[in-house]
Amino acid sequence: MKILRLHVPHWDQFDGLIHGFLGRFGGQGQSPNRPFRLSHDNGDDSHAVKRNWCELKLAIGLRDIDIITAKQVHGDTILTVSSATEKLAGIGDGLMTDIPNLCVGVMAADCVPILFAEPARKIAAAVHAGWRGTAAGIAPRAVALMKEAYGIDPAALHVAMGPSIGPCCYEVGPEVAEQIAANWREELKGAWRPDGIKGRLDLRTLNEAQLLGAGIPRLHIQKIGPCTACHLGDFFSYRKEGRSGHQLSFIGWRS
Ligand SMILES: [Zn+2]
Repeated sequence: MKILRLHVPHWDQFDGLIHGFLGRFGGQGQSPNRPFRLSHDNGDDSHAVKRNWCELKLAIGLRDIDIITAKQVHGDTILTVSSATEKLAGIGDGLMTDIPNLCVGVMAADCVPILFAEPARKIAAAVHAGWRGTAAGIAPRAVALMKEAYGIDPAALHVAMGPSIGPCCYEVGPEVAEQIAANWREELKGAWRPDGIKGRLDLRTLNEAQLLGAGIPRLHIQKIGPCTACHLGDFFSYRKEGRSGHQLSFIGWRS
């Protein structure tokens, strides 16, 4: 199995950092339309899910690393991962950890996968931000919680946003813009382009504005990869394909 794995070139300088934004992938012997199931919680055969994880970790060279995920619900809950005993950390759309030799991961197909790294303390976090999570401010919430839990300075955090639906393909109704503007009016200005009754939303630009407001330096914020809906050969897109599959993004530190 060959998997597209995007990384953040700027992060090559960080010794021990493991991370990646994966593209779409399929299991062996499965039709291309059958998604490669990784969910521990959606009723799929647990042996098949386990086998898929093994196959995936082998393909990306991380057989010895546990990747902890969560049951994502488009909310703003960030879970703290303090051991690798449970592969599913609970219900939430973000995970953070200071434990070495494990990764935290999120699944997305159009929503923005956001990875956080703090190189001095070796803290890692992964967040899933669709429009609902973004309206709830999940990315700045992750920054605040890491500051509180680990005592880190937001200025020391490095953030990367992975492949997600771009403003080229993300048309939404005015009710979405209104809900976001309720808390993020200024941040929304550069990320919303009215187009008739509806408009185009740029989720990554909106999250970037929120992260700048949370104290992340502009030079520490990277956008990696293209619009998912424009590149269906490489990525799943919920908007274009419906319930087809999700791609995994993950981050952690080796001790
Ligand atoms: Zn596009």
